[in-house]
Amino acid sequence: EKAHQPAMSPSHHGWDATGAPTPMHKRLDGKVAVVTGGARGIGEAIVRLFVRHGAKVVIADIDEAAGEALAAALGPHVGFVRCDVSVEEDVERAVERAVSRHGRLDVFCNNAGVLGRQTRAAKSILTFDAGEFDRVLRVNALGAALGMKHAARAMVAAAPRRAGSIVSVASVAGVLGGLGPHAYTASKHAIVGLTKNAACELGAHGIRVNCVSPFGVATPMLINAWRQGHDASAADDADADIDLDVAVPSDEEVGKMEEVVRGLATLKGSTLRPRDIAEAVLFLASDDSRYISGHNLVVDGGVTTSRNLIG
Ligand code: NAD
Repeated sequence: EKAHQPAMSPSHHGWDATGAPTPMHKRLDGKVAVVTGGARGIGEAIVRLFVRHGAKVVIADIDEAAGEALAAALGPHVGFVRCDVSVEEDVERAVERAVSRHGRLDVFCNNAGVLGRQTRAAKSILTFDAGEFDRVLRVNALGAALGMKHAARAMVAAAPRRAGSIVSVASVAGVLGGLGPHAYTASKHAIVGLTKNAACELGAHGIRVNCVSPFGVATPMLINAWRQGHDASAADDADADIDLDVAVPSDEEVGKMEEVVRGLATLKGSTLRPRDIAEAVLFLASDDSRYISGHNLVVDGGVTTSRNLIG
């Protein structure tokens, strides 16, 4: 009898032994998606999960080597386009690539982002550099707005289908202060605000707009920041630019980072992985969330519900 099946049986949950969803659970079957910043980190996890769920995916990233390699590894339904999300023509081209190659666009994921410099000067409101502030806002906030613009234009043009889902990766730094450099915090609050505004406008076309806010995923971005925090000379180096320093963090660094985050999470007994963020993005991208729009889904193991965050 169904009710007595073991709760963790893979088939019961729609997963096969390798962790791939069984066909009836392919939640993006036949859909076409663009994922910005999809070459590594959280974006790579999103791309992999989307593909497992039957989507055709265009990876849009500035890292050509990593993006091309990932696309080649994932097979014929995945392509790469070089795209700097702060450059409007690049974003437009990424959307055009999806539509010309696959005939439609169902999902656009604004995941690309930069943390910005982690020097003491950059982190203080007394001394931050206007040029650096502008750079971070251009990638994170303008980049997300341009993604919404061009994705929505393609989705609206596909009328009368009246559908589409835009999911952006914001951050817990888009909800709380004191978690990152000022430019990063401002840019992530901007994404949460843009999500609400765009949801209001695009709802009339049946397009949903949501965002996901992670905390503490051990990706190259976070490990670079963590490295600098433990390196006093780097913390004062005005030229330090952490965005692309570490292509592949060591297992040891990932382990240490995960331990720090586990200490902060109120949810004990498991470790936050890029896949956990990807699952939240998948939910908002798929029809499973068909009546959810303008929402910010926080994925943080309960960190922001606890005073543990500030100690
Ligand atoms: P990452 O640095 O490991 O990966 C970012 C990817 O974005 C890279 O592939 C990079 O090449 C690409 N990228 C950077 N600038 C770009 C640009 N201008 N145009 C196109 N692509 C660009 O970072 P991550 O940790 O995987 O972060 C992904 C997203 O998640 C970011 O928006 C980040 O702010 C957000 N986020 C991460 C964490 C975390 O703990 N790692 C927490 C909260 C939010």
